[in-house]
Amino acid sequence: MSAPPLLQVEHLVKDYVLPREKLFAPPPRVHALRDVSFTIEAGRSFGLVGESGSGKSTLARLVMALDTPTAGRVRLLGQDLHALPREQLRRARRDFQMVFQDPYGSLDPRQTIERIVAEPLAAQGEVDRRTRNRRAAEAVESVGLRASDLGKYPHEFSGGQRQRIAIARALITRPRLIVADEPVSALDVSVQAQVLNLMRDLQSEFGVTYLLISHDLAVVHHLCDDVAVLWQGQIVEQGPPERLFREAAHPYTRSLLDAVPRAEPPPARAGLTA
Ligand code: ADP
Ligand code: MG
Repeated sequence: MSAPPLLQVEHLVKDYVLPREKLFAPPPRVHALRDVSFTIEAGRSFGLVGESGSGKSTLARLVMALDTPTAGRVRLLGQDLHALPREQLRRARRDFQMVFQDPYGSLDPRQTIERIVAEPLAAQGEVDRRTRNRRAAEAVESVGLRASDLGKYPHEFSGGQRQRIAIARALITRPRLIVADEPVSALDVSVQAQVLNLMRDLQSEFGVTYLLISHDLAVVHHLCDDVAVLWQGQIVEQGPPERLFREAAHPYTRSLLDAVPRAEPPPARAGLTA
């Protein structure tokens, strides 16, 4: 029997119910995700692009089991995450970790880097302080920082370094999947490429696969083997990034391409059919 895919997102629906405006009218709903399905095979990083409000962070939270779907399923290595008992979900979290957009807000300013980076290990029940310290040192070194940085606090680091710390924290449980929601959007353009190159190197070094979320097709092109375009809570197009650059079919994808300034122009744009 072949192994189940790393991640299967099946007919995912998420409605947010807003506060009632009128006493006898039903409360208004936001349809953030409308029947989203895709599969990620191990070793094939997957990019999800879409404009602000298209549902990207909602999808990330559902995949991370930080929020519950209105309908549909998320399977990690075949396990239905939202159906797992609490304790099994906690253990399963070893296999999937997240990097958030905001490198300033996502690291607790009162904790040392050691505490921050080792936190997922502690959550997995690793009680031995020396083991946590050693693994934290390995993790920060793998993202280009030093073991001597472990005693410092987040404010002592730049935005790019903080995102490296967030990546170290995600790596420490040796996950199979890392969900990265706009990981470079808050960084200076000059730093973005360094962080993306680091993420690319870590893919092969640690055998990690990304679900990389961005509003920028050029960013996912850097790292991903497959790309899906999310528009108003639905996937409107999917394929290898080169194909989307070459022959994007959906008008929304084309407008995304037109909006992206790139260092290297996508090949054969002239081949686009109207
Ligand atoms: P993106 O990350 O692509 O910008 P989001 O997933 O954050 O999109 O949001 C998708 C839609 O859901 C938006 O219309 C947003 O306003 C709405 N939304 C997101 N989170 C909530 C929430 N907690 N309550 C109500 N509406 C929400
Ligand atoms: Mg978002």
